[in-house]
Amino acid sequence: MQQQEPAAPTDVVRYTVQDRVAVLRIDNPPVNASSMAVRTGLMHGIQKVAADPRITALVLIGTKNFISGSDLNEFSIPQLPEPELPMVIRALEELDRPVVAALSGATLGGGLELALGCDYRIALAGSVIGLPETSLGMIPGAGGTQRILRLLGPAATMSFVCEAKRHQLTLDQGHKLVDRVVAKDLLAEAVRFAQTVTTKRVLIKHPVPSWEPGAVEQAAATAISAGQGRGQIISAVGAIIAGTVLNAPAALAHERAEFTRLRHGPEAAALRHQFFAQKTLAKAHRPAADIELQRVSIVGAGTMGMGIARAFAAAGVQVTVFDTNERAARSALERVQGDLQREITKGRLSAAQAAMIRENLLVVSDCDQLAGSQLFIEAVFEDPAVKAEVLAHMESIAGSAVLATNTSYLDINRLGQALQRPENLVGMHFFSPAFRTSVVEIICADATGQSARDLVFAAAKLLGKVAVPAKVGDGFIGNRIFNAYRRQCELMLEEGVLPYQVDRALTDFGFAMGPFAVADMSGLDIAWRMRRSKDGSRDPRERYPSVADQLCEAGNFGQKTGSGWYGYAPGSRRGERHTGVEELIINTSALKGIERRSFTDGQIVRRVLLAMANEASLVLAEGVAERASDIDVMLVLGYGFPAYRGGISFWAANQSREQLEREMTELAETTGYGFTPGDLELLIS
Ligand code: NAD
Repeated sequence: MQQQEPAAPTDVVRYTVQDRVAVLRIDNPPVNASSMAVRTGLMHGIQKVAADPRITALVLIGTKNFISGSDLNEFSIPQLPEPELPMVIRALEELDRPVVAALSGATLGGGLELALGCDYRIALAGSVIGLPETSLGMIPGAGGTQRILRLLGPAATMSFVCEAKRHQLTLDQGHKLVDRVVAKDLLAEAVRFAQTVTTKRVLIKHPVPSWEPGAVEQAAATAISAGQGRGQIISAVGAIIAGTVLNAPAALAHERAEFTRLRHGPEAAALRHQFFAQKTLAKAHRPAADIELQRVSIVGAGTMGMGIARAFAAAGVQVTVFDTNERAARSALERVQGDLQREITKGRLSAAQAAMIRENLLVVSDCDQLAGSQLFIEAVFEDPAVKAEVLAHMESIAGSAVLATNTSYLDINRLGQALQRPENLVGMHFFSPAFRTSVVEIICADATGQSARDLVFAAAKLLGKVAVPAKVGDGFIGNRIFNAYRRQCELMLEEGVLPYQVDRALTDFGFAMGPFAVADMSGLDIAWRMRRSKDGSRDPRERYPSVADQLCEAGNFGQKTGSGWYGYAPGSRRGERHTGVEELIINTSALKGIERRSFTDGQIVRRVLLAMANEASLVLAEGVAERASDIDVMLVLGYGFPAYRGGISFWAANQSREQLEREMTELAETTGYGFTPGDLELLIS
């Protein structure tokens, strides 16, 4: 081993000896992340072993988690503090005694790279391993790609690294990266294992197993296509291919250089921002641990009601659904059954999961059968009178249980007025499909009580969804900002663009879908109904984009009617440019006396982003959202905003203030009467 300055001991790594086996326990709460203190402590321990000839082997073990990943705060600073992880791994490899990593909980990112630098790996059943780096805009930088390459070969390494999945280890199913999986007593098993191994097994010195070029080519193409060609995916594929042609030190140096380059890049910074934004939310609204949700009742078996029901059923909760339209409810249940079967066939769902959903999901024809649940959710038509009546009836069945409304826009304070116990009412705004989307907006009305609030946050956690808190306000956080953005898109149609141009510009920017394709998918009638409900309160001096109304008046509601902003061939969901709609748009401009002009994609995107940023700052000023970063989470998880752009506040914070101010003035002028300028500083600071 090279002569080095002795590392200082740290209190996050403890050194003990059991039967001549040294044990280094990493204990860095709350999640056992790897940090400078952990790495320093490990170096100190390794040096202590090296200096003690009585020690026969070394075991590394964590507390709950082995190591859940690297401390991402360190990744935001220009130079990582020493000792860097590759130095620790090199010290482990150069130590003349075998090293065993004892894995429990989560062994992710740098944690797995550290484990791969050990000679052997033993894991507790139920623990998970994985490399999430590509989902954070980077690649592993401490030899992860190169050491896995030597165990799995290039094709499987590409999937492992680029998919960034967590792999759970069970007694029946281990993993090639791990030597043994044990049911319990991890430390004792690891020490025993360490006593039986006498030789070093330094992975990086092993040759890469032979590979089949066609399979590697296929794996690379699959990874790049699934990763939408993002830079970090291409870089990961490149690092793995480099490992097949370069010697190990050169391949490790290449991997490290790529990691460093990507770590400093804008996409990694944006993804770190999203990561911390979600963490902040989880910390701020940690639900009480003692809430156990066992039964939920849902009124309305439409798209949302059934989607929400399926989500709860999959989380092990008994769900009872009622709909006044009994036939529709029965066929909704049949549709769910059919979907489950199809997902099993495609391998997306296990038979056991499907059986659990079927078992937990009950559709009833008598609303009295809803009684006895802790949470009642309404998902009926977006009509205040219908919802008020349904909620009052639900209350009569629910007693003092919590009532949640899945309204998209309505005033929950007002809905509460129909109730005897408005403190039990709360908004739970799900996104479609509710069993798949990973976010839910929780809207607390003025009267909402703490126990209702606690229960819905606990419900969101049980469903595995990020809960974003909001206050009452038209469209809350998400739909309000989305509407402001959609309005600008419709105004741009009258000024000179066509739907496909807007959708293309925004999907090229990274949005999952453009607003016109989204409208066609979810149905133009929803927003149409919302606009009609506001006819009485709209100021005639405001610009009113009218093409959507004309489409709806002619029965063009999007995919479900075969025509909306685009045309659809029978049975197809692929929208084609629709000449009739484009003519209607051009004629509308002429009728309104608007001279059409051309827009570049960049101009379209900036106008949309400015509108979002402006509305987001208003949402903050009014207290509808708690934090700018909550809005970023909402937009990324609920509205297809590209995660690698961080969210609207991250985007705005990275623009020139002068340019933003100038463009905001232009936006106000173009939009005309009724445009309310927000204070962007609220969003940026
Ligand atoms: P939907 O039309 O698919 O379903 C509504 C269901 O409610 C229908 O099956 C109807 O028979 C039933 N219903 C109506 N009145 C009833 C009553 N009095 N008692 C019992 N059942 C009754 O609508 P949806 O798209 O599922 O939307 C439901 C709610 O969810 C709306 O408030 C909507 O704004 C909101 N929402 C929708 C989406 C979406 O993407 N579709 C997303 C978030 C929120």
